[in-house]
Amino acid sequence: MPELILILISFAFGILCIGHLRRYDVHEREPLFAMAAVTIWGGFVSIVCSLFLYRIIQENGVSLTDGFPFSYLYVGYVEELAKLLALVSCWPIIRREMDEPTDGLIYMACVALGFSLIENYFYALANPGINLLIAIRLVICTPMHIAFSMFMGLAFFWAVRRKGGWGLLFGAYIIAGIYHALYDTFVSYPLLLPGLYLILHSAYAWMYRLLGYTAARSPFRQTLTQWITSETAPAIEPGYPCLECTNNAPKPTYRRGRIRIQRCEECGSYLCSPHALYQLVHHYGSLFGSLRRRIHHLPHQGKHTRTLITGNRIDRRKHVACFQLDEFNEVLEATSRELAEKMERKWWFPAGNIK
Ligand SMILES: [Zn+2]
Repeated sequence: MPELILILISFAFGILCIGHLRRYDVHEREPLFAMAAVTIWGGFVSIVCSLFLYRIIQENGVSLTDGFPFSYLYVGYVEELAKLLALVSCWPIIRREMDEPTDGLIYMACVALGFSLIENYFYALANPGINLLIAIRLVICTPMHIAFSMFMGLAFFWAVRRKGGWGLLFGAYIIAGIYHALYDTFVSYPLLLPGLYLILHSAYAWMYRLLGYTAARSPFRQTLTQWITSETAPAIEPGYPCLECTNNAPKPTYRRGRIRIQRCEECGSYLCSPHALYQLVHHYGSLFGSLRRRIHHLPHQGKHTRTLITGNRIDRRKHVACFQLDEFNEVLEATSRELAEKMERKWWFPAGNIK
């Protein structure tokens, strides 16, 4: 029974992971139906492929329980190859949907989710009873499976859509295998658990950078100004007091998903909650992950005032953020552009017109 609870927790956690990832697919969301189909089919195919590959290895006389840490390398490479093959097998489902680089990441993540959920199920059955190591493993291995293989998803997108970067796909596979092996090693020995933190941290940082890069280069990307000016008849709603001129009247209100912005008709400033400001930086600045490091004090503005990156003002007491559209739009564009260019300057980045 405890195994069943763990499996359910890991399943719920996996669903949360995908929901979370989907929020990063900011410019053109993938249909949930396709994501679910890839999770189920991709998960099934990847498990079958990995069982098949394990069998080939074992028939060639290699025993996977021997030879720590090399057995983990086998496991890493077998499972990552299985996930990549499963993504290829999903091509008929995703062919029409793969129209921006983020989609490569998203569908690879779905395959990894499916794989991890099925693997967890068998893992829990094979290890009856409950202990800390198994609990940790079941909960964190799903996001890890997702994070390790995402780079392969992007390389796959480049390879099939831009007909280039096959070498990069191979490189992404090599990296995924190494990460996977390190993770398996660290998670198997309680004494090595602190090392797990380093793996988690760097895998997540890399995943957010990839998500940011693909968002910055999405062909569906709009600027903040393009969005605001495309709204011809914003509803007038009661809302934030203006930080510039203290105007308290109801204001034109712009909504996109969970972002809600108001325009002060007295002074032309734009207002939103600090949370919405974060969302704007994710969405238009292509900057994902924690933004805490990017909050700064503003000199001479009182101790309750902060800024996120620059080009805005957050009043933490009133819980309101304020910016000038053109100025902040330029900050977001520059942030997004720099992020993309930094990635494209990397030595391994495929040459040619791969965007
Ligand atoms: Zn105002």
